[in-house]
Amino acid sequence: MNLICPLCNGLKEKKVKCKNCSDYMKDYGPIVNFYDDYSPYLSNDITQLVDGVSHDCCLHLFNCDNCNYDEKVKINRVRK
Ligand SMILES: [Zn+2]
Ligand SMILES: [Zn+2]
Repeated sequence: MNLICPLCNGLKEKKVKCKNCSDYMKDYGPIVNFYDDYSPYLSNDITQLVDGVSHDCCLHLFNCDNCNYDEKVKINRVRK
C-alpha cells in the first residue's frame, strides 16, 4: 500500500478560496519543497515529521495572486 498526494501527482486540482478576498488561490506545491535547503538528504518520511504533519496528509502552500494572502492546506493522501 502506498499513499500518494493527488495534487503532487497531478491526479486532481484543489480549489481553495482566499479567505481575504474570495478569489481562487494558486497551489505552490508541498511545503516540504521549501525546506529542501535545510534537509536535502532527508527522506520524504522524515521531512514530513519535521512538518508535524501526519503520514496521510500532504501540506500544500496556497497563495492568492490578488492580495498575496497565503495559507497552508492539508491534502489527504490517497491509495495508489
Ligand atoms: Zn502534495
Ligand atoms: Zn486574496
